[in-house]
Amino acid sequence: MTTRFERSAAYYERALARIVGGVNSPARSFKAVGGGAPVFMQRGRGPYLYDVDGNRYIDYLAAYGPGILGHAHPEIVAAIARAAEGGTLYGTPTPWEVELAERLHAALPSLERIRFVSTGTEAVMSAVRVARAFTGRPKVIKMEGCYHGHSDFALIAAGSGPSQLGTPDSAGVTEGVARDVITVPYNDLDSLGEALDAWGREVAAVIIEPIVGNFGVVNPAPGYLEGVKRLAHEHGALLIFDEVITAFRVAYGGAQTLLGVEPDLTALGKAIGGGVPLGAYGGRAEIMDWVAPLGPAYQAGTLAGNPLSMQVALAALEILGRPGVYERLEAESAYLADGLVAIARRHGHTVQLGRAGSMFTLFFCDEPVTDYKGAERSDPQKFAAMFRGFLDRGVLLAPSRFEAWMLSVQHTRADLDETLQIADEVLRQMVR
Ligand SMILES: *Cc1c(COP(=O)(O)O)cnc(C)c1O
Repeated sequence: MTTRFERSAAYYERALARIVGGVNSPARSFKAVGGGAPVFMQRGRGPYLYDVDGNRYIDYLAAYGPGILGHAHPEIVAAIARAAEGGTLYGTPTPWEVELAERLHAALPSLERIRFVSTGTEAVMSAVRVARAFTGRPKVIKMEGCYHGHSDFALIAAGSGPSQLGTPDSAGVTEGVARDVITVPYNDLDSLGEALDAWGREVAAVIIEPIVGNFGVVNPAPGYLEGVKRLAHEHGALLIFDEVITAFRVAYGGAQTLLGVEPDLTALGKAIGGGVPLGAYGGRAEIMDWVAPLGPAYQAGTLAGNPLSMQVALAALEILGRPGVYERLEAESAYLADGLVAIARRHGHTVQLGRAGSMFTLFFCDEPVTDYKGAERSDPQKFAAMFRGFLDRGVLLAPSRFEAWMLSVQHTRADLDETLQIADEVLRQMVR
């Protein structure tokens, strides 16, 4: 490591002694990009992050999704200050949670009833519990490579075929949990049909990222989501959209707004919180009314719906709801992504682009990516070289080929042009 990252390296040494693996979430480690100290950030402003060594980065990590407003957005800073003045936690209902639930319902009409939680993991876990309670069935079908947080059911890997049960993908997850999870490839209705034919009467829900953000950005084939919904319902199972990454990222609302397919239940997180901890789940009233205190499905939270998160989220939706915000994000994202693809090809790299609104992934492979197996063909060495090249020149990406570039409302055309200029250098020097 050069002196550019001297202080980060020193913090990493200290972190390794007291924080497991030196990081508080495994995705933050640089394991997938050659190892070594991750960069320790100290300050964020607009589209930029500044590390402990004083280096500036144009930030396309966006904290893995939430950062759609950039850093220290003045209206978010004001909302946090206002909330702090009034006290941040009461343990009672508040006006803001009512207002936020109404706003979310207006943006996502499928959310007839909502519960606020603190993370995406909790949102998904709770939605699955309600689906099981409502249907009286134990099993869940998910799609290979989709990420649904770190609750036990979400950490089950695919079995050997669509009609096979999964196996634990993490130590500490039991075979008992694996017996209730089936995993099939994304964009593959035949495999889903096969799994439902084998297990249909036991399946509570099919859960899916309607637009994938977790093996890179991959869009559903035309008609695929409609097919998933039809198959699930034919077998008496519910459809859960995990929109933790896509909600208020691909559109005001979510993938369901953009693509016109409504699920029975939706999990939300990341961008809805405007940079503070917030998750939510909700859906059809007759299903959600199974949740306590109305119904027998228990779910609770000391920090759920806390006044700080509620007021920040209201401010975030206010900003994101202004005319032209998503049109501009779409145009700027297309400008940057298409520019990167052109530069990569000019320098002899074979790349595929997956893009949905203000998130996109460049895959280093020969064929367009439609599922996890396809994403796995993206060259890890090339990705690592690109990641390091950008990092050394002040552009921050997620340290994994399975993540996305994410724009914020604070990136300007000048930031994108600076990025493209750096990309020209990085991609020119990379081995083909
Ligand atoms: C990030 C993510 C989660 C988990 O959210 P956390 O807030 O990290 O718990 C769940 N589902 C999807 C689709 C995600 O991208």
